[in-house]
Amino acid sequence: VSQLPMEAGWARPMVPPWSCELAEVIYGIDPSTLRIALGALDYRPGLGYPDMAAPRPVVTPGLLSLDTATTECARLAGARDRILPWLEQRAAPALLVIEKPFASGQHVPHESFHLIGVLKECVWRAYGLETEVLMLSPSEWKMRALGAGKGFAEKPAILAWARATLGFDGVCERCGNGLEPEEKLGRPGAKSGKRKLKLVCPRPSPAHDVADGLGLAVAGAVELERRRSR
Ligand SMILES: [Zn+2]
Repeated sequence: VSQLPMEAGWARPMVPPWSCELAEVIYGIDPSTLRIALGALDYRPGLGYPDMAAPRPVVTPGLLSLDTATTECARLAGARDRILPWLEQRAAPALLVIEKPFASGQHVPHESFHLIGVLKECVWRAYGLETEVLMLSPSEWKMRALGAGKGFAEKPAILAWARATLGFDGVCERCGNGLEPEEKLGRPGAKSGKRKLKLVCPRPSPAHDVADGLGLAVAGAVELERRRSR
């Protein structure tokens, strides 16, 4: 198994459970000004577990922490210096899905868009014309990856999906990996009506970002399959 250098501890490759006809490399990227999470679906021959009869795609997570100090200009320059070699060490994907900046209906900070600009420059410098870049909103990629009706899935639900579907071993103790009964996540004292409490993470850990990156990559695979079946 080809191991991609990882900043996080989640180095174990995963195998998607579905039978996929794709033969491309697909990346999903969840960018923030704090860190960049990446999910990679790699279909190159020779990858995968040696005991498997046929080559299967391998799913790999990645996480890159960015410098939070100094001014925005210095942060963006530092982000570029870190993101570019991080991308260059990976195979050029056919499709790279980036989550559109959002802020739950609030005003999206300009910095988020600036970082997307830096990221796109790095994608171009690393992969050039080989790579199509697709921007998807959170609901767009969640519906593709998790299925219809899941467009508003919260972070714990995404993490639970990545763990159950892909075998992702990232954990978030703050929300019990999204697997705990949802009443545990309710406000103290909240009683009855528990079903209506949203399953949210009180303070999302990086595992959530990586799970989102994996979801974005799977959404890219679903997108390519959709195009082909039209
Ligand atoms: Zn959590």
